[in-house]
Order: sequence, then structure tokens, then C-alpha cells
Amino acid sequence: MDDLFGFTPGFLPSATDGETLFGWCARFHRLSGNTSGALTSKELFGHLSGAQRPDFPVGLGHFVDVTRGALGSALDILRERTVFGHFLPFLDQTASLVAIENICNGSTSRIKGPLGLLKGSHEIPVRLKTCPDCQDEDLSRLGVATWHLSHQWPSSWVCLQHYRSLRVAVNGFIVQQANSWCLPGDLRENDWQAREAFTPSQTAQLFRLAKWTRQFADQFDRYYLPHLLRHTYLIRAKARGWIALDGTLRFRTLCNAFQNAYRSLETVPDLGLLNDVAKNNGGFLGLLLRSYAGHRVPAKHFLLMTFLFDTPEEFEVAYEQARALFESDGEIGLRRQLTDLRERLTHMVENEGSSINHAAEVLGIPPSMAVHAIRTQDIPYQRRPRVLNPEREAKLVALLKAGEPREAIATALSIRRSFIKDYLATHEELLFQWQTAFENRNREAHRTRFLLTLSHNPDLPIKRIRRLPTNGFQWLYNNDREWLLQQLPSLWSR
Ligand SMILES: [Zn+2]
Repeated sequence: MDDLFGFTPGFLPSATDGETLFGWCARFHRLSGNTSGALTSKELFGHLSGAQRPDFPVGLGHFVDVTRGALGSALDILRERTVFGHFLPFLDQTASLVAIENICNGSTSRIKGPLGLLKGSHEIPVRLKTCPDCQDEDLSRLGVATWHLSHQWPSSWVCLQHYRSLRVAVNGFIVQQANSWCLPGDLRENDWQAREAFTPSQTAQLFRLAKWTRQFADQFDRYYLPHLLRHTYLIRAKARGWIALDGTLRFRTLCNAFQNAYRSLETVPDLGLLNDVAKNNGGFLGLLLRSYAGHRVPAKHFLLMTFLFDTPEEFEVAYEQARALFESDGEIGLRRQLTDLRERLTHMVENEGSSINHAAEVLGIPPSMAVHAIRTQDIPYQRRPRVLNPEREAKLVALLKAGEPREAIATALSIRRSFIKDYLATHEELLFQWQTAFENRNREAHRTRFLLTLSHNPDLPIKRIRRLPTNGFQWLYNNDREWLLQQLPSLWSR
């Protein structure tokens, strides 16, 4: 294999933190002095034009060879510098290996199949996007603005750093510009989509979506199986009262609630799939919640996850519970969690003397639903004493001030988590104290865990450390980056 102009890796521009492969290649193209983009493409990827695309490069194996791995291995590049990392957690491992193989050696036509992006199912395309503030920062830092990976994920429309909407290149931009490796500053005004500025509520919702997107894309070696995802969603739907006591999904009620939550996003270009939820089949919600086989693009999962769960961590816990249940009791165990609720509720209240609230908590259904079911059956039931007497309330306040997690308080005082949530909602000062204390504890716990991982693995390079399970790195990277950066000088030398 020929090296490019016989150069050494030292000649190559270094890739900046979070820069996409496409952005790096465009900068390389400028530095190379090549007048034709096709020539650069041929040199870097062995293809005249196939590689000039912002989503998945073609001929990545060639690229790694001619750059002598200056940007890392093919897998490193795919995960850290292309949108592949966005799709990876939702692929099965066989499909991902096929996709990687095709990206390294094959043609584009053999990439989208394994990724679940076949024509017609890919409602949110990969487009070139940029943030004007990031562009300014790049200009003063690098002398030229480049493409940032966190902007390119299909479900990102807001810059996580600057909390402002991204500019999105118009449809087919890349096709028209097939021979130029463009950088954000090369696009003219009418190369960008013209659209209304996002409203504050749209920005807030899209910011949250982008945060979840980043969190999943940054994970290493984490795969989510479609049938366990579906069950995780259903269990959560049950807790929200969208599974009837006979186990049937109250699909239309759920769709309506979803539409209400995301109504303001229906006008966002590329989010037209939200309108399909109004159809009889519920659009993509039907595909995710009913047992249709197949992988769905991540954006659809993120929309449903952000609707059902408060935080990615809460989703993780639920997913792990579903996985553990599946491993011990199989598909039947999963199904049992959703069906026969009425019989089990009646049995607990009538024969075991459970209070309705306790039974509802054990079964994971809203207490109001349980009360209604018991009353309509005319079953005598115990009325629980008031949840809090002054003594218990004092304990609750003390635990909250100490920043204890809600789960731990709920267990310690035998009260529902939702009670604590409601209590905090009516005690603003206490809510603030709890949040601050909770965040401090959480941060300390992650720092300790990370330092512990480092001390247990004194010789492992940081790249390997961050892939160890429960190492705390990812959380710190997302939430405590300044502290992490302070640790880094000593880490880089590893
Ligand atoms: Zn920005």
C-alpha cells in the first residue's frame, strides 16, 4: 500500500477533539493543495467519490493504511469520528461486525442494510450541521471551522455547548457538492435550511434529546436488544397506567399523551415522523411497542425514552431489570410482569391483607388504578394510615437534606418514591437543598469510583480504562469534565 506522497504521520493535520472524519478530510484536502476533491478522495479512501459523505466513509481500511493509523484504528475512527457510534448500541453484534466490514472494504449500498437504514425507513437523515458559536471558536483556535460530531448525530438539533439551534445544510447538499470537501465556512446562505428560530420550549426539548443522544453515542460496548427495549418501555408504561389490568396496552391513550408531550416538535424539519403517531397504527410507537421484529433507528428510541423516563440512568436501571428477569425466567417471566395484574392485585388485597398502595407498588401500577379496580370489585380493603406523622416527616426531611437517593429514602421509610417526588414539589427550598446535596454525593461517588479504577489498574492506558464497566469515566466526562481534565495530565502519560 502506498503512503500518501510518502509522508509520515507527522505531516497530517491532527484531528481536534470531537471533529468528524469528514471534517478532518476536508481540512486535509485544503492542506494537500489538491485541486480536485475526487483526487483527495482517491488518495485517502481509494474511491474517487464514494467517500465524500458525512455519514459513513467507504474504504476506511484504505484510509487507516495510508495514514498509518494516525487517527486510530478503523473502529476508533468509526466510533469517535463518524455517526456510527450513534447506531452501534442498537445493533446486534453480528450486524455491527457486518456493517464495519462493509465500511472498511465495501460499497455504501452494503452499509445501510445492517444498520437498519434501508430506503424508506430512514426518516431522519444524516445531514451536515453546525453551530455558529462553535464555528467562531474553531476559527480563533484552528484558523478554520470544522464539523463537530456532536452536531451531526441525526437526533441532535441543538448545540450542547452553547444551547443554541444548529444550522442544517439543505437536502442533497452533499450530492450537488460531490467534488468538494466542504467545511462549514464554505456553505453559502442558501445552502442552509431556512427555518424559523426554535421556541424556548422546542430548544429545551431538543437540548434534552441531544443530551440523551450524546450519552448513548459515548458508551462503549453497550448493546440494547430490541425485545428487551420493548419490554423496558412496556414496564414503564405500566407504571404510568398505560397497561390495563388484564395486560393489554392502552395504546391510544399512550399515543395521545406522547403527542401532547411532543406537540411542539411536530414542526421541526426532519421530525415529521412525530405526525405519524396520530395514525391508527401509532407510527413508530407501534413499531417500538408492539412485537414487530427488527431494529429501529436510534432517534425513534430516544424520542420514546425521553418521553417515558426522566434520566438515562433511570432507563438503564429499568433495562437492567428487564435483562435480569429475562435471564432468569425467559420470555415468560417478562410477559408475566405485564399480565394477570387484576388477579394478583385482588389476591394481595383480599387474601394477603396488603394495603392497596403496597400492592400497587409491588405490581408497579399507579395506586389510583389499583384503588379503582378494588372498589369496582367491592372488595373490602385496609385503609392505610396517613403516610407521615410528624416524627416520620422529620426523618424524611433529614434524609432529604443529606442528599440520600430517593430509592433509599423510600425503602428506609417504607413510602413510595412518587410520594417523595410530590413532597419535594411542594417544598421548594428543601428540593434545592436535596438536589445540591444529592449532586455532591453523586459526584463524589463517581470521582471515587474512577480513582479506584485507576489505582486498581495502574498500567492500563486511559483508552482501555474508559471501557471498563462502571469506571465512572463516562459520567464524569458528561457531568464533571473540569475535574476530569485536571486529572488528565497525569492520565495522558499512561
Ligand atoms: Zn456550539
